[in-house]
Amino acid sequence: MDARDPITSTRGVGPVLGRRLAAAGCRRIVDLLAHLPLRYEDRRTLGRLPGADEEDGTESAAPGPLTVVARLENVKRVFGRRRFSRVEAVACDGAARVGVVWFNRPYLARQLEEGVPYLLHGPLRRRGGDGPWQLSNPSVERISGEKPCGGGLRPVYGRIGEVPPSRVARLAADAIRDLRDASGPDWIDEWLPREERTKHQLPRLAEALTEVHSPSPEASIEDLNARRSPAHARLAYGEFLLQQLQLAVARCQRRRSGKPHRYRVDGAAWTAATGLLPFRLTGGQERVLGEIADDLARKEPMLRLVQGDVGSGKTVLAALSCLIAARSDLQSALMAPTELLAEQHFASLEGLLGPHMTIALVTSSQRVASDGGAVEERIAAGRIDLVVGTHALIEERTRFARLGLAVIDEQHRFGVVQRQSLARKGLRPDLLVMTATPIPRSLALTVYGDLDVSILDEMPPGRRPIETRVTTDGGMEEAVEEVRRRLESGGRAYVVFPLIDGGEGAAAGLPSLRESGPNWVRALAAPCGVVHGRLRRQERDETMSRFAAGSIQVLLATTVIEVGVDVPEATAMVILGAERFGLAQLHQLRGRIGRGTDPALGEPLCIAIAGQPSSEAERRLEVFAASTDGFRIAEEDMRQRGPGEILGTRQAGLPQFRFGDLARDWALLVAARQDASELLDRLADPGNDALRRQLERRVPGLVAPEAGDPRP
Ligand code: ADP
Ligand code: MG
Repeated sequence: MDARDPITSTRGVGPVLGRRLAAAGCRRIVDLLAHLPLRYEDRRTLGRLPGADEEDGTESAAPGPLTVVARLENVKRVFGRRRFSRVEAVACDGAARVGVVWFNRPYLARQLEEGVPYLLHGPLRRRGGDGPWQLSNPSVERISGEKPCGGGLRPVYGRIGEVPPSRVARLAADAIRDLRDASGPDWIDEWLPREERTKHQLPRLAEALTEVHSPSPEASIEDLNARRSPAHARLAYGEFLLQQLQLAVARCQRRRSGKPHRYRVDGAAWTAATGLLPFRLTGGQERVLGEIADDLARKEPMLRLVQGDVGSGKTVLAALSCLIAARSDLQSALMAPTELLAEQHFASLEGLLGPHMTIALVTSSQRVASDGGAVEERIAAGRIDLVVGTHALIEERTRFARLGLAVIDEQHRFGVVQRQSLARKGLRPDLLVMTATPIPRSLALTVYGDLDVSILDEMPPGRRPIETRVTTDGGMEEAVEEVRRRLESGGRAYVVFPLIDGGEGAAAGLPSLRESGPNWVRALAAPCGVVHGRLRRQERDETMSRFAAGSIQVLLATTVIEVGVDVPEATAMVILGAERFGLAQLHQLRGRIGRGTDPALGEPLCIAIAGQPSSEAERRLEVFAASTDGFRIAEEDMRQRGPGEILGTRQAGLPQFRFGDLARDWALLVAARQDASELLDRLADPGNDALRRQLERRVPGLVAPEAGDPRP
């Protein structure tokens, strides 16, 4: 018997159960063992049943469930109102008698035998609060002669597909016992090199799996339940290491494959390009630009993510890189998430670089070149240096003669999809991904293990810090006053609504554009425009342009403005129903204001108005008000919502971990990343055969399934 044998080779699994397990992705014994218990029950201390007058049943008066050995009497099924029934019995441990009740387990009435000892484990309560003692829904297990105690640390499982938890528990326990009987204590291939195991003091794989499924009596229940036991650490580390090795191998292959183009520039060219800017780069920009320049000079394609808050000057760096490409006779593409942003980029890049290169705008509604000529053919002929457009640019028909550099701007999902579509077209340009939504460092390491990350953590000089106030509906008038003051001094304002019109959400007291919008128009007494996702794009873009030009002073909007136009005069933002927004989203919205440096505009102010915040929303808003640091906010966001939510992992095709948890096991992840890059050189060693095999198959079950795999 081997752990990688089909699940049907384990005791108690016939063809029917085998099919049910397989339907849930459990085909081999290891797949079963990869289903870790959800939690553990401590049944190491046997208690006794309380007498009727006793305060508490357990000797030690320890809180929590009671474990007792007792015989059952009077087992019967009791029918209540409707079709609900319960099973009742009386438990007797020789000294005291206590009622027992089970809900939703009618079959127990048939199964339980009177007069024989059972091990019961469950909460002990007084009926109705002050009535007689009762054991409620305890687990119940017949005690056989061979294990008189039957206690210990008991794993509790979830269901696997349609197979109930109790069945899973039995299968797992039997499988572990049989494997050990058949093959000894080291019953599954150890693939983690001894060096790594020793370094991190991790148990062998067989030991770890044995320990999580049948913990030894001296194990710490707290560690087990928190998934911080040495056994859990071994599984998480192993999973991280394989994933990091996979990324490291991919990175290595990318290096070897090289890129088809070369840049013909030196430091002087970069200095000259920088000299075209009407300002001096910040220290942060200098540093990141240096990193980009190094990447471009290399033989392998660049894969770099630049993270920096809105307004930190990322796009400027992209522009310089495109100019350098043009100087090397290579084309570049700059992709923005919306048409409007693409147009805005086109306009500002033309202003900046127009005299030095040919720039074209390609969107679904426009095709224009800075010098007026035909666009498509000239891109294909290599006579346009920079093409600005939406993401569709690389997905659709635009053909480049010599695409050397692709820049993806404000890409929240980090270009995974774009990378794939470029690869499909057989293009290997240098890739620069820019995002203002910082991702926590832990995520950057795993998800972008093959991306190099640059961080712009410095704002251009002259920016005014944004003040943020969080208030309730009572603060509405004050908000109106503050906004009016800023409008009077030439500023512009956003009022953000959680809903377009009433309906379900409005019943919960959330303001909508349609219902509350008119009040704001009256109260602010300034030219207002409305944008939301249901307007035609053209109409939306027109309103935004008028807002940018100043003929509209207030934009009443939904979150469509989250990724939006750069309007330096915008100094005020009111966010209504702020309890409804996530931290990252709030931060992104706030980034729309305070982008100007004109002191006459006054201090930028963001007012978040929360109607009925939950305590969690309150915490969120507290963090929002206290910090404008995107990275702090991202970490907090991940703590509150979990990594999957942040990345929209499923859509983006990113790895998910089965054993490891990015927040909990952060230290293990960092270690695994470090170890992976060192292991790469030792991978071919004969001693690492097992690791290599493991890496090659990324065993389903013991390793996180690849995204797209329907396995749980
Ligand atoms: P991001 O793309 O990170 O949001 P941008 O590159 O669009 O930032 O820059 C925001 C604004 O700041 C632009 O108007 C840009 O011209 C200006 N800017 C960028 N870098 C500097 C700098 N070093 N000094 C002054 N202004 C800058
Ligand atoms: Mg930008």
